[in-house]
Amino acid sequence: MPELSKRLAAVTDSIICEMTRISDETPGSINLSQGFPDYDPPQVVLDAMKKMAEGGEQHQYAVTCGAPNLRKCIAEKYSPLFGRTIDPEKEVVITCGGTEAMMATMMSVCNPGDKVIVFSPFYENYGTDSILSGAQPIYVPLVPPTYQFDPEVLENAFKQGAKAVIVCNPCNPCGKVFSREELLLIEGLAEKYDAFVVTDEVYEHIVFEPYVHTRAAALPGAYERTITCNSLSKTFSITGWRIGFVIATPEVAEYIKKAHDFLTIGAAAPLQEAICSAFTLGEDYYAEMLADYTRRRDVFCSGLDEIGLEYTKPQGSYFMMVDISKFLAKEKFAGWTDTQFCEWMIKEVGVAAVPGSAFFAEPINHLIRLHFARSEESLREAIARLMKLKQYL
Ligand code: GLN
Repeated sequence: MPELSKRLAAVTDSIICEMTRISDETPGSINLSQGFPDYDPPQVVLDAMKKMAEGGEQHQYAVTCGAPNLRKCIAEKYSPLFGRTIDPEKEVVITCGGTEAMMATMMSVCNPGDKVIVFSPFYENYGTDSILSGAQPIYVPLVPPTYQFDPEVLENAFKQGAKAVIVCNPCNPCGKVFSREELLLIEGLAEKYDAFVVTDEVYEHIVFEPYVHTRAAALPGAYERTITCNSLSKTFSITGWRIGFVIATPEVAEYIKKAHDFLTIGAAAPLQEAICSAFTLGEDYYAEMLADYTRRRDVFCSGLDEIGLEYTKPQGSYFMMVDISKFLAKEKFAGWTDTQFCEWMIKEVGVAAVPGSAFFAEPINHLIRLHFARSEESLREAIARLMKLKQYL
């Protein structure tokens, strides 16, 4: 057989998907590994979807950079949030999920051999996106359990000639919300060393009090170098619809449009039209969603407290890192990797998590990621099962 792509040879399978596969094969397992909600999208969205199916006009390709209606909705929503007028024609690109938003951005920004700063732990796609776009990641640790970074380490990474820095805010997998000061520092360094700031803000509406979401692109003078990747998956509970978007300057967006056009032509046309209905939802919708997630987080955290598990309380997103060192110190688990622990947990406890090592560049083996995008009932059931862990503490 001729040699296959060297680039893909360097890419490992998604551990998140692997854990989901094992969980799906295990009868009754509750999947808290792959993060997606188990509740329905808003009714207005479901009604619009039905209408689209019957309408007949939207079943062919959309305009490749996105249905004009949807681009307009996005520009209208984000213009006040960014403190500038976003041009829906030139500065918004609709993609197949946040995943393609990030991939098309990386392909637009990077040349082979370029370096890209990735905070570690990182959402597993970023490492792969860097490799597939020919770039080399430079990892900057977000040090557990507080997930702070050292500004000097970050500056040293920029000094190595980084072309871009990727900031996932709120952060999957650790639940960190970058403060305005941290983002000002990152933008300042990006300006000093002439690099792009690529943000992934798909959890923007899941930021728990007293934390607030700062949009890096809205910081003074930051828009020109900031590329905002986002998605409607989490905000409207439609992870399967695959609708993401990028907001960037016309010059950058032009490149992202090209990458997107040749990667996928476009996101699903009827779904792009249907999701416009979600933009009629007002502040109440976002407030209620946040209140629901706050309750789920609190139910889940108090369950973990009862069991005696240590974790970093998430400031945002629906993910959290839980410390399993106390287990690994016991004879039963001696010498185990976090992956072995997660596999054991699926089979013996009936709850799936993702081994933390999937997200860290550093050799970290004592953390697992759980998500709480589940109904309170499922979360209480998951806690009841996780109680089994107590006997090993
Ligand atoms: N973003 C989701 C997560 O982090 C789903 C990822 C995936 O399906 N690979 O769990």
